Amino acid sequence: MSKLTKESLLRIRGFRLAVIEAYNCKCSICGLQINSPNTLTWEVEAAHIVPHHSMGKDDIWNGLALCHLHHWAFDVGWFTLQDNFKIIVSNKINSLPSDYGLIGDYNFLLSMNQNTNRIILPDKEEYYPHPNAIRWHRENFLLLNL
Ligand SMILES: [Zn+2]
Repeated sequence: MSKLTKESLLRIRGFRLAVIEAYNCKCSICGLQINSPNTLTWEVEAAHIVPHHSMGKDDIWNGLALCHLHHWAFDVGWFTLQDNFKIIVSNKINSLPSDYGLIGDYNFLLSMNQNTNRIILPDKEEYYPHPNAIRWHRENFLLLNL
């Protein structure tokens, strides 16, 4: 059992709901927008750009709405973002077989269209990820994985 206090659980839940709502319940990479059969739970998650263990805050500008798969890929450094919100995929993708990461015909890494597509951003610019948070993720995850 983790030692999260009631206050920190409430803060995290507030962060989660705020991020998911800002991104209109869609994964900011693939656009997946599905919920549970009872419609109470969205599949999309609120990812921290700078994680808690690196002093990342529960602020909306430190969040991204990501589906489970893209959340994992972001947290392990398969991709990060440029300051203009375009996607950078780790160069390691180039040394992998072409069928790596395929789900049917869908390659969740190659489909990210780096250098051409921006992520799907919130409607309100004030909710966009902060450049400092993006830079932190880029410097601490992607460069380690080149
Ligand atoms: Zn996704």
